[in-house]
Amino acid sequence: MDKADTNSENYEGLRYSRQIILDGFGAEGQDKLKKAKILVAGSGGLGSPALLYLAAAGVGNIGVVDFDTVTISNLNRQVLHFTSDMGRKKTDSAEEKLYKLNPEVKVIKYNTRIHIDNVEDIISGYDVVIDATDNFTARYLISDCCYFMKKPLVEGAAVGLDGILMTIIPDETPCYRCLYPYPPEDGVLPTCSDVGILGAVTGVVGSMQALEAIKFITGMGQNITGRILTFDALASSFREVKWARRESCPLCGKEPKITELVQYKVKCRLKGIEVSEK
Ligand SMILES: [Zn+2]
Repeated sequence: MDKADTNSENYEGLRYSRQIILDGFGAEGQDKLKKAKILVAGSGGLGSPALLYLAAAGVGNIGVVDFDTVTISNLNRQVLHFTSDMGRKKTDSAEEKLYKLNPEVKVIKYNTRIHIDNVEDIISGYDVVIDATDNFTARYLISDCCYFMKKPLVEGAAVGLDGILMTIIPDETPCYRCLYPYPPEDGVLPTCSDVGILGAVTGVVGSMQALEAIKFITGMGQNITGRILTFDALASSFREVKWARRESCPLCGKEPKITELVQYKVKCRLKGIEVSEK
């Protein structure tokens, strides 16, 4: 089949044939992906590759949250958005590309900033959440909300030439606050101005976030749980750090202090991932 004939009886079998033949994947795995609902918060450096690979793999329902518009300095890494998209809403640009890549998937757009008043509504319908945001305010909201709503969460970040990844299954694995109990205070971190980012580094981390979500949905292999995976692009090496639940964790510990969502106002953005011009 050279051209897309979506009416062909075996269209999906052909389209996804290279993954269906994988050990432990099969038609069953494909069916699970088709029924899956995966939310990607952010369609920038991490979200772009994550969204592309989820759509290509045939994830049936893909949510994308972004309030931003495409600017020129996004283009070195946000591969979902092209030069001609400058000025467009990222959710519109993302939707168009994902449908072009795979018209069989459903894309649900949320052209909004994640906020204490909307995060539960946005997350509630999904099986897995991928956090591809660029700031601590959203990150804590998403990770707390996923914990309260018992949603698996794939965390990823990329700074300069380094990346970090972890998957969190509420009540089973350490949560984000077991690692970072509270966000940094303003001024504690070095300035959040441009420390730089190489697009291929966000490509590695974002692709692995998609992989984590796909593995979780299909039940293949082991997720990055109870450990943190770090990526050093300069050395071309991955490192793994064990990570246990913390009894004193303010969220999932024995005496939790965080019992409802908190809207932090951390001005400091995650360095290097996204440096907004605004
Ligand atoms: Zn915890």
